[in-house]
Amino acid sequence: MMDMNTLVDVIIVGGGPAGLSAALLLGRSCRRVVVIDEGKARNRLTYESHGYLTRDGIKPSEFRQIAISQMKPYSNVRIEQDLVEHVQQDQGIFHTLTQKGRLFRSRKIIFATGMQDHLPLIPGLKEVYGISVFPCPYCDGWERRNEPLAIFGQGEKFFHYVKTLYSWSKDLVVLTNGASAVTEQEREELEARRIGLIETEIRDLQSHEGMLHRIVFQDGQSLHRKGGFLLNTGARQASRIPGTLGIPLHDSGGYVTTSDYGHTTIEGVYIIGDAKNAFTGLIGAARDGYYIGELINKDLIEDDWEQI
Ligand SMILES: Cc1cc2nc3c(=O)[nH]c(=O)nc-3n(C[C@H](O)[C@H](O)[C@H](O)COP(=O)(O)OP(=O)(O)OC[C@H]3O[C@@H](n4cnc5c(N)ncnc54)[C@H](O)[C@@H]3O)c2cc1C
Repeated sequence: MMDMNTLVDVIIVGGGPAGLSAALLLGRSCRRVVVIDEGKARNRLTYESHGYLTRDGIKPSEFRQIAISQMKPYSNVRIEQDLVEHVQQDQGIFHTLTQKGRLFRSRKIIFATGMQDHLPLIPGLKEVYGISVFPCPYCDGWERRNEPLAIFGQGEKFFHYVKTLYSWSKDLVVLTNGASAVTEQEREELEARRIGLIETEIRDLQSHEGMLHRIVFQDGQSLHRKGGFLLNTGARQASRIPGTLGIPLHDSGGYVTTSDYGHTTIEGVYIIGDAKNAFTGLIGAARDGYYIGELINKDLIEDDWEQI
């Protein structure tokens, strides 16, 4: 049993697939671990998740419930529902303070805090996001294949995103919601593939129980679409705490790390999952957790060996 004053091996902030996977590996390595999770995973709005081998089509809530129930045999792993508000390092020990006023101490700390989407202000978009309009074709493209789809977005990477979606459906209309920087060459390429391009601002999206059926523009015109994909989801870090410890943000929106695995520029602080890569997907996030768990355990083994 652990009480709150126990110095634990690892605090994991965030209990999505990245954090829980690290907890499982570290738990199985006989490490004392506390996972502190607010419970607002990025995909909580969606009805089912895809692409995770053995779990294709699972509800996000069921995925989480299975992960937590499989942690039960490991009494050395504790899972707390709470929000971490402040972390500070003092003489190599991390002090983690939560919203409920609890203080935890650890030798290492992992941030698996993910990203949160802040959607563009298009009336009706919130209602369809995660149900018939999605960010990631690999996650939800199969279910929407060959359907009449809208692609919402602008800017860098947008043309590549359109090309990608063309392999799931040929019935595409690109909506830039205002004047776009689409080049002449790109316009010709879209036209040659009969992909529509509408730059008029969107007035609203009409849907029923999350299923998109019509897009209405500011000029009164409208368009029937059964679903869509959104490139710019306004994703931002869910937690700014790694920044307060001195870890800078990358242009891509993830935190700067010094290794592919999640080591940061600060000894003992690790960042994994979406917080590191901006969008890892469930299996990528779980892979991050597994790897960093093993690497942290190796570091702890070395430290403990030297203490004797
Ligand atoms: C609409 C939508 C659909 C998606 N569908 C799929 C799909 O089908 N397949 C797929 O592979 N991927 C899908 N994804 C992507 C997937 O959700 C993410 O890549 C994955 O959740 C990242 O895992 P993570 O553990 O890094 O972060 P998350 O799952 O976001 O977990 C982070 C956790 O940290 C907690 N947290 C944050 N800050 C704090 C704090 N200060 N204190 C305590 N807790 C904190 C959050 O509340 C959250 O519970 C989808 C994403 C979206 C938006």
